[in-house]
Amino acid sequence: MATTTNKDYYATLGVKKRATPEEIRKAFRKAARKYHPDVNPNDKRAEEKFKEISEANDVLSDVKKRKVYDQVGFYSDQIDPAQAEAYARQQRSGGGQPVDFGGFDFSGFEGGLGHQAPQGAGAGGFGSFKDIFSGIFSGAQHQQQPRGPQPGTDLEYQATVDFWTAIRGGQARIQINRQETCPTCHGQASSGGAQCKECHGTGQVTQMGGRMKFNITCPSCNGTGRVSNDCPTCHGEGAVTRSETVDFRIKPGTRDGQRIRLQGKGNAGINGGPAGDLFLIVRTGTNPVFTRVGDDIQLTVPITVAEAALGAKVEVPTIDGRAHLKIPPGTQSGQKLRMRERGVESASHPGQRGDEIVTVEVAVPHLNDERSREIMRELARLNPDDPRKTLFDKL
Ligand SMILES: [Zn+2]
Ligand SMILES: [Zn+2]
Repeated sequence: MATTTNKDYYATLGVKKRATPEEIRKAFRKAARKYHPDVNPNDKRAEEKFKEISEANDVLSDVKKRKVYDQVGFYSDQIDPAQAEAYARQQRSGGGQPVDFGGFDFSGFEGGLGHQAPQGAGAGGFGSFKDIFSGIFSGAQHQQQPRGPQPGTDLEYQATVDFWTAIRGGQARIQINRQETCPTCHGQASSGGAQCKECHGTGQVTQMGGRMKFNITCPSCNGTGRVSNDCPTCHGEGAVTRSETVDFRIKPGTRDGQRIRLQGKGNAGINGGPAGDLFLIVRTGTNPVFTRVGDDIQLTVPITVAEAALGAKVEVPTIDGRAHLKIPPGTQSGQKLRMRERGVESASHPGQRGDEIVTVEVAVPHLNDERSREIMRELARLNPDDPRKTLFDKL
């Protein structure tokens, strides 16, 4: 098992072990100004150095972390401060040789204690080693495991479909960006990787804590024992984003807001996982004459005063072409006339159709000659009823 050397954060920041928080803060700021990546663009060494001083500052500027670091000789989030405290106390009270707690199997130390038992163990009635260390590295083995097959994520796009295609059905297409399986590594992300140099493939490294050796999860490979040699095409993602034109079928009567699911057209899966789905939200286009409301078609049709007063049979547009509409005598402007089953074929109920709803709008003529105006005045004399009368009656 390889051993990593503990980092001397005090030396990194160039301060004494007894440095005050203010001295640490000043030292960090000074070093940060010198090594900040913004000041040293494309300088790998400065970048490394900046990482080191940041790490040192992260631990030393935090009272709790610094205490653990001082007690054990290194810092990890996995260390319980109370355990570190107990350990330091135990170190002060008793002597002992460096002890290797290989793999943290403490079973051998309970009661009788094996041949590896430290000299100081048990002295001072300290309790078993299991008590002292059981909380320290719990969960370390469960951190990042190598990734298995993962399904790709779903995608959602809005697809604008023109007015007539939505009504009659047909083919439509949309351009989307989706993650495809990387053509270079075929989604393997990394080719298994090389053996981790830090831990020689064991996934664990030993770190000294005072006179004790701790086996910790290798920070270089996160305990996998291997470092990925990332695919140059996808940089280890296993997938690349590509722009793609997707053709899809539109059912007759497709409504605005309707969702269409295209299975397997979402993002590619990882490590052989299935691709996600592509969901299209249909946005239907508009038409200058017709307005679509669900399966109904609405439009406004102008009629003459004579047609409105006397009644008529007029030609109106429908989505199937021209059709005849009967205007009853005495039709008012704004009145709605329904033409049954002249609307859109239902996508959800085959064989059913919506209606066409015609709003009639009486077109008042411009009377440019004296004879027409005389006829209109004559008409008014013959029909003296006040259309506003009922308004006043209601007051
Ligand atoms: Zn790749
Ligand atoms: Zn490693």
